[in-house]
Amino acid sequence: MTKPAVEGGSPVCASKLYYSHQYIDEADIRAVTDVLKSDYLTTGPHIASAESRLCEVTGAEYAVLCANGTAALHIACMAAGLGKGDEVITTPITFAASANCALYVGAKPVFADIDPKTYNLDPASTEVHITERTRAVVAVDFGGQSVDEDAFLALKEKYGFTYIEDGAHVIGTTYRGRPNGSFADMTTLSFHAVKTITGGEGGAVVTNDPKLYEKLLLYRTHGITHESSLMEHTPDGPWYYEMLALAPNYRITDMQAALIESQLDKLPEFSARKKDIVRRYDEAFRTLPALRVQEETPGSDTVRHLYILRVNPDHCRISRRQFFDAMAAENIICNVHYIPVYYFPYYERLGYKRGLCPNAEQYYEEAFTIPLYYAMRDEDVDHVIEAVTKIARWYQI
Ligand SMILES: *Cc1c(COP(=O)(O)O)cnc(C)c1O
Repeated sequence: MTKPAVEGGSPVCASKLYYSHQYIDEADIRAVTDVLKSDYLTTGPHIASAESRLCEVTGAEYAVLCANGTAALHIACMAAGLGKGDEVITTPITFAASANCALYVGAKPVFADIDPKTYNLDPASTEVHITERTRAVVAVDFGGQSVDEDAFLALKEKYGFTYIEDGAHVIGTTYRGRPNGSFADMTTLSFHAVKTITGGEGGAVVTNDPKLYEKLLLYRTHGITHESSLMEHTPDGPWYYEMLALAPNYRITDMQAALIESQLDKLPEFSARKKDIVRRYDEAFRTLPALRVQEETPGSDTVRHLYILRVNPDHCRISRRQFFDAMAAENIICNVHYIPVYYFPYYERLGYKRGLCPNAEQYYEEAFTIPLYYAMRDEDVDHVIEAVTKIARWYQI
């Protein structure tokens, strides 16, 4: 058997691989530099055109581009009218922003557990946590696979909360043949550099609800409107605008919007390549007793943002930490998505205690993220498969 590098074997690749990397081509560069030569650096023609592309891709009626995915979650919570005394149920296995958005508006995040096979927010655990104060659920399409839309829509019907989908990972994925983005009341997207489609930074909220759309537009820009039909006073003249609510400036630049638009042209290619890599990974890793692969939500045709492996403590002699280090010795720098949000000191100070979500905590002990991105070469994929297999076999029980 081949020795892992930590045991004195040689690493499978000479240069380092990371868990994600953007892909920027000449068309992307041209899209950005064209804007730099134009009249509009911030809100210009690319905002509307990128928004209409997002509507096509997500199947939603309306899209509001904004500064980043966190801003998108914030204005979604504002548009939902959340505030003090309200509870928002979300998953602990996510980036902190999915829970923080409740705190931004004075509401209380409530953590429900994950499904131990798909790692997504478990609808059954969500229902257990519903109280008369529950006003919203923020479900995250973890790693890119759709949440169980049928189950969350049924819960929404039964309890009447605002259903917000944190779709930061989900672009390209479909659920029962429909793109994610048209199921929840609002779906938020992120265009951070590690995500499938990037604007450097960037975000969006997509919705089918014209009332929510109107609010999202307002909350993107200081609560200010130029729309005379929304004004409370008679306009003094053509310069006139009104501030109707208190909100931040969450606008995005036209450079970023142009980059997002240009990247969206490549979404079919990005998706096909990622699916191809995932197929190869699943095939190679599914049969290794030392590891577990993420299982799909029924109905999700997934474009993964993350590829997660879990050590199986019953069949693996080493811990996640040791597996992670053994991968680093092979020059493959993994990551861990995510530390349960309520483990953070800020949340501890708010009174959240360990033990809230046993499946999430067990997941966190075992999970690590291996490289997955469009720009990976076939030999990079081979290297990852070779390294994972080598380590998993060596330490197998
Ligand atoms: C990236 C991410 C966000 C935040 O997006 P930004 O654009 O970085 O603000 C929110 N939720 C999840 C699950 C994410 O992965």
